Amino acid sequence: MRLTPRREEIEAVKALLESPDFDSADQMARAVIKEVAGILQMRDWVALVHTWSDGRKGLNWAPFGNESEARAFASKMAFGGAGRLVKLHSPGVMLANHNGKPGWKGYCQHPECGHAPFTHSAATAARGACQIPTCPCDGFRK
Ligand SMILES: [Zn+2]
Ligand SMILES: [Zn+2]
Repeated sequence: MRLTPRREEIEAVKALLESPDFDSADQMARAVIKEVAGILQMRDWVALVHTWSDGRKGLNWAPFGNESEARAFASKMAFGGAGRLVKLHSPGVMLANHNGKPGWKGYCQHPECGHAPFTHSAATAARGACQIPTCPCDGFRK
């Protein structure tokens, strides 16, 4: 999983590492792993979906940090068939938009929307509008 740590992610892990509240290294390690899992849930990933050359469903792999990482894996493994890259959106971001996450800014400011940027269409007909069927939003507002 290729990724570049973001400033706020580094700060969250640093706060745990510098905290005097842990009684043991085990306890601190547990907290760090949970924090990092939460951080990774806030990111989008790429999956490699595979079909064997006779059309049967193949083996699927994820997560990759970006498309070039998935492509590099596919060319290294080269076991035939056809591969396709699929974007996996962050359920953490959707939940944060839905439940309200303090300090989280990645959502639409439209008063009736509030969904993540990736729910907003890039297709020409409905450009910028939210794709959630119940949402009346007509364009992403930062
Ligand atoms: Zn929406
Ligand atoms: Zn919106």
